[in-house]
Amino acid sequence: KGNLMAGKRGLVMGVANNRSIAWGIAKACADQGAEIAFTYQGEALQKRVIPLAESVGSKLVMPCDVMDAASMDAVFATLEKEWGKIDFFVHAIAYSNKAELDGRYVDTTLDNFTASLAISCYSFAALCQRAEKLMPDGGSILTLTYYGSEKVIPHYNVMGVAKAALEASVRYLAVDLGRNNIRVNAVSAGPIKTLAASGIGDFRYILKWNELNSPLKRTVTIEEVGNSALYLLSDLGAGVTGEVHHVDAGYHVVGMKAEDAPDM
Ligand code: NAD
Repeated sequence: KGNLMAGKRGLVMGVANNRSIAWGIAKACADQGAEIAFTYQGEALQKRVIPLAESVGSKLVMPCDVMDAASMDAVFATLEKEWGKIDFFVHAIAYSNKAELDGRYVDTTLDNFTASLAISCYSFAALCQRAEKLMPDGGSILTLTYYGSEKVIPHYNVMGVAKAALEASVRYLAVDLGRNNIRVNAVSAGPIKTLAASGIGDFRYILKWNELNSPLKRTVTIEEVGNSALYLLSDLGAGVTGEVHHVDAGYHVVGMKAEDAPDM
């Protein structure tokens, strides 16, 4: 434990359970002295998120569905009332109909395209609009993305397109909010077995493939993603904005499978 986040208060959205990437980030920040507010989507997740929040001493746990503008307004109204301002905000939210995280991108429907982009990309801008108002002295904002935005990953389909749009949003938001000393970055995490990931077709094979082909010959943990997020959310990352930082055991630098090379 340390004090990198001592005196800082922030909002973490996207904890579904103790396997969530958002939980790894919240834990890393709490261990460094941050005070955290959480949101959960829907009553089914409430009973999972409340004990986790309590375990890091959080007193603010609120419902929020990013498709409901009033529920987003309510979260920020509560934060304003309770804390007046915030120092950081984590967006770890994505959604696509499971039926379209399998098979071909070409078969994407307009309904699912619209919903996926709205929840996985537009919500980030919508929440940044609200977070900005509570960051009069600057702050740090982080979202989560995946390599399927850069290269084709089987079954990732519309999520890959949504993540590409999200990464572009990070750059635009970094410029918009930079004048107020608010930094906006993304962590591009390697594959991790979470609730959301279990919706992706053949996800076990993706994990295995990363183990076999990443430079570190393994996948990453939510603790590792949490620690890298900590760097971007704390003052250690004070000079960094608009960045997509890969925490993927190096997978994204590999251009060719080395397994069968003669000297390996
Ligand atoms: P998760 O299932 O634990 O978290 C996803 C969260 O999104 C859940 O808490 C869910 O409630 C929330 N969510 C979905 N729709 C919502 C809505 N309408 N309103 C509010 N919340 C909503 O899974 P995770 O893997 O921890 O996902 C967190 C983020 O990390 C996502 O953006 C995901 O794309 C990204 N990511 C995941 C991986 C991976 O392999 N698991 C890799 C890279 C990036």
